[in-house]
Amino acid sequence: MVLKLLVIVVKKYRIPFIFLAAWCTVAMVSGQDAGSGIVAFKNVRLIPMTSDKVMENQTVLVRGDRIFRVGSAEHLEIPKEAVIVDGTGKYLMPGLADMHVHLVSKTWETPEANMFLANGVTTIRDLTQGTGAMSIKKWCEDFRSKKRLGPVTYNAWTIWGTEHNIAEIIPACKRNRYDCIKIDDYITKKDFYETVRRGRDSGIYIAGHIPYTVNVDDVISAGMDELTHVELFPVVLASNLIQGNKDKMPREKLDEEVITNAFKLLEPVSRQNSPSYIDSLHRMLDREIGKLKGKNITVITTLVADEILALKYNDTLKLKSKPQNKYLPGKFWDDLRKGKDKNSYFIGHEKCADVFYDLVVYAFGELKKNDIPLVAGTDAATILGIVPGFSLHDELQLLVKAGFSPYEAIRSATHDASQVIKKMTGEDDFGTIETDKRADLILLDRNPLEDISSIRRPAGVMASGVWLPEEKLIQLLEVKRKLAYSVLQEVMAKTNSADSVIGEYKRLSANNDLNEYFLNEYSLTSVGYDLLIKNKLDDAIKILSFNAGEYPYASNPYYFLGEAYWAKDDKKTAAGYFKKALSFDPNYDPAIKALRR
Ligand SMILES: [Zn+2]
Repeated sequence: MVLKLLVIVVKKYRIPFIFLAAWCTVAMVSGQDAGSGIVAFKNVRLIPMTSDKVMENQTVLVRGDRIFRVGSAEHLEIPKEAVIVDGTGKYLMPGLADMHVHLVSKTWETPEANMFLANGVTTIRDLTQGTGAMSIKKWCEDFRSKKRLGPVTYNAWTIWGTEHNIAEIIPACKRNRYDCIKIDDYITKKDFYETVRRGRDSGIYIAGHIPYTVNVDDVISAGMDELTHVELFPVVLASNLIQGNKDKMPREKLDEEVITNAFKLLEPVSRQNSPSYIDSLHRMLDREIGKLKGKNITVITTLVADEILALKYNDTLKLKSKPQNKYLPGKFWDDLRKGKDKNSYFIGHEKCADVFYDLVVYAFGELKKNDIPLVAGTDAATILGIVPGFSLHDELQLLVKAGFSPYEAIRSATHDASQVIKKMTGEDDFGTIETDKRADLILLDRNPLEDISSIRRPAGVMASGVWLPEEKLIQLLEVKRKLAYSVLQEVMAKTNSADSVIGEYKRLSANNDLNEYFLNEYSLTSVGYDLLIKNKLDDAIKILSFNAGEYPYASNPYYFLGEAYWAKDDKKTAAGYFKKALSFDPNYDPAIKALRR
């Protein structure tokens, strides 16, 4: 299946050879010597997010990627060598965090990382990496080391629920140092309990959905740390209605049952809008949400995902009027027009999408009333129409509309997000403006505590100590991304030399500080694979070995290395690589099958 997938990927994205524009380095982007320079934000109105107070006339000094001094502008001495950012009349707040994103789709023409930073989103948590998605951990490392500009990225290993080797996942996550686990919809109840127990025993933070096979009581008694959407509460009302042995139901059947039950619950509202019926739905939500009180389970908001769902089916004009939609891939509108959108089961039940959103907002209010920790996230970057970075501003506005004060909304995307990361990793690193915290900052013209929309257009953003003034933020949004593997395949076709391909890869990778190239594990695996099927085994091995070093957490390069050695009749080496592929992903089917062979 992986073989087939590669061929499709390679064919679909063949684009002409394009020479690299001469981009400046990260150090030049920052206008400072990244790493050692001092930047002084002089005379700002500080919103440190340690309380809801604004502190007048403050100076913040940054050295390297850390805040190293905060104090009154009158008394705090600014070192002579410091680069000064005049903050007079401006506000300085911590960078924002989006705790639910998916860095998965190469269909975004503007790099996701650039859109996050341009919007002041300096921290993200990706919930995608898992079987089939293998490059994200490497991207996190690139951002951290400032090889490329990007938000600090934490990442989960996702358990889709369709894996057969569930027991080996937790040890693999521990070994490969993932920050947390995300559990998706389809895991069986038995595997759910088993996975959460193993995760807890290994000290791994467990986030995720309420799988269709379990209920809120199971989430609590198993001991999950986090639920990744508010919408899970209306959804659980539908999954609770499924009859029969859910562990035995195939994935499609579970989907079908949940959707049918959801419309059974929602349709009466969309038809007659009877207050007593709506009230009965609210009481059902109250019961489920009340169970979480005092259980220390965090819920990620993602209201914007449900708002967009409602707009897609009931108000496309309003959806189209969102200014950030110019960044949406054409595929999003095509899918929507053709009824191929992921949520297309709403066709014929359009009003239900509005009713569903109202229930999500109600659930949010109820969670707030029960003091359940609520942390901002958006589900950005999937093909669902949620534009990275911009979506967090939508989210903050929706949170305020749903009952948060602007301070509470900002806190959910700064301090409170940092406390989730602390629980995951032990690091208490960001989310407030205090000495020793990471220098993630947003400079604003207006006070966001008065008007949450003031954060939308920053006068500048600092990301891990790299200062990005407004012009630079605009430039980041102008980058049009190209797919590296088409370039690499052209080089192969022209030169017929594995060394030239590797050389070109290195060149692209070294000049990719503004994320101009979409580089992932496939970039070179696809070339290696082509060589493999042409039986040019030594060249294939050269490229795949190099690639395995570049993407040490990806199974694909090791698997194809194994195939190349197998073709050379070196079965022992081949088996070693198949096993290596499985050490990163115990459920990587091609390697399992190869070892059986
Ligand atoms: Zn998600």
